[in-house]
Amino acid sequence: MGGSSLESGAERNSASPLVVPDGQSTSGPGPEAAPSGDLPWGPAEDGLDRPYWDGLVAGELRLQRCGQCGVWIWGPQWICGACHTFDPGWQAVEPAGTVYSWARSHYPFITELADRIPYVTVLVELPAAGHRRVLGILTGDDAEAVRIGERVVGHIELDEGATWPLLRWRRETTEGARS
Ligand SMILES: [Zn+2]
Repeated sequence: MGGSSLESGAERNSASPLVVPDGQSTSGPGPEAAPSGDLPWGPAEDGLDRPYWDGLVAGELRLQRCGQCGVWIWGPQWICGACHTFDPGWQAVEPAGTVYSWARSHYPFITELADRIPYVTVLVELPAAGHRRVLGILTGDDAEAVRIGERVVGHIELDEGATWPLLRWRRETTEGARS
């Protein structure tokens, strides 16, 4: 990771062929601004979660932490709910935690990822961040065998054709982790 130029306005990959439905394939006007394979995640337009995404590009998981009172905050807020300081800061945290909850999805909520169902979503509690919980996808061949309380480790991955990386989780497979 690191030096790649992943700006929000980065080039989009338009190499993938467009599939034109039958009946619309003749020489009419071109397809109206097809999303050309770009994947539907990244910073919100209001900029609130931008440091999170910049952190992933830099190879770090960053969550909000109030610079005044030290409380961890997730998801991102404009103001600290504990001490009412505006614009709480951000801090990198080790992407390791335990499964607080999980679900298996069989429905393609994200049409661009329809070929990847079923998938497992985990709510991961981060002890290093005041036990704040972050949501993510669990990957790996053994993802289906996840259990509540199991240790998982986050990996930052940039999908082909994606502008922004994602933090995905995997079960920690080291011996003795089940104590
Ligand atoms: Zn605070």
